[in-house]
Amino acid sequence: MNNGKLIIVPTPIGNLKDITLRALEILKEVDFIMAEDTRTSGNLLHHFEIEKKMYPFHLNNEHVVLQKVVSELQAGKTAALVSDAGTPGISDPGFLLVRECIANGIEVECLPGATAFVPALVTSGLPCDKFYFEGFLPHKKGRQTRLKYLAELPETIVLYESPHRIEKCLNEIKEFFGENRQISFCRELSKKFEEIKRGTVTEVLNSMTENSFRGEMVVVIAGKEIVRKSKYNSEID
Ligand code: SAM
Repeated sequence: MNNGKLIIVPTPIGNLKDITLRALEILKEVDFIMAEDTRTSGNLLHHFEIEKKMYPFHLNNEHVVLQKVVSELQAGKTAALVSDAGTPGISDPGFLLVRECIANGIEVECLPGATAFVPALVTSGLPCDKFYFEGFLPHKKGRQTRLKYLAELPETIVLYESPHRIEKCLNEIKEFFGENRQISFCRELSKKFEEIKRGTVTEVLNSMTENSFRGEMVVVIAGKEIVRKSKYNSEID
């Protein structure tokens, strides 16, 4: 029997025009869609006039439905995996399903498409040849340990943060990384009120208005400057 296929389909992070032609084609063609939130993805499908069977696949049920999805794919079906926004698997459910499919010899494909960290990183003006994607920091336990670790990294760091924790997060960056660490604060990427603030963490904090704490946000942090020694032991930068 022919194995089916799992296709990871990125969806827009704000602007619906960011859906790709391939994404629309795949969402129309697959046998069924696994969606983080069937209501959110239902609105997207409705907007693009796509009717397709959808099943929930989220953090609270992924372990339970994993085997069922794999069985369907082994029976030759093709499924798309979507999350509420952006690329599934990137701070969203997806990893477990991808790993299980690979373990069972099922083909996995990921369409290139929308994700929040790429535009945030690329517009930061900070080096993006090497970077460290942290995603969400732990909310409580282990948060400080993580911040201390990140503060020593030489690469540009990318954080996802929720609006109700952003002020705390920026203050922690000031405390752990130093008040002069450069950051880029991106809010509402691809949306009407997209905003990017660049500067030291202190400057960005001082420039925040009430609106700055609303919406979806990514923080990009400059890596720790490493003073390298030449082989003659004189400092070079
Ligand atoms: N899978 C998504 C991706 O590929 O980027 C990320 C999903 S994660 C649950 C949601 C987080 O992504 C938000 O809290 C925010 O940090 C970031 N995010 C999503 N959309 C965004 C946007 N339009 N502007 C800024 N950040 C965004």
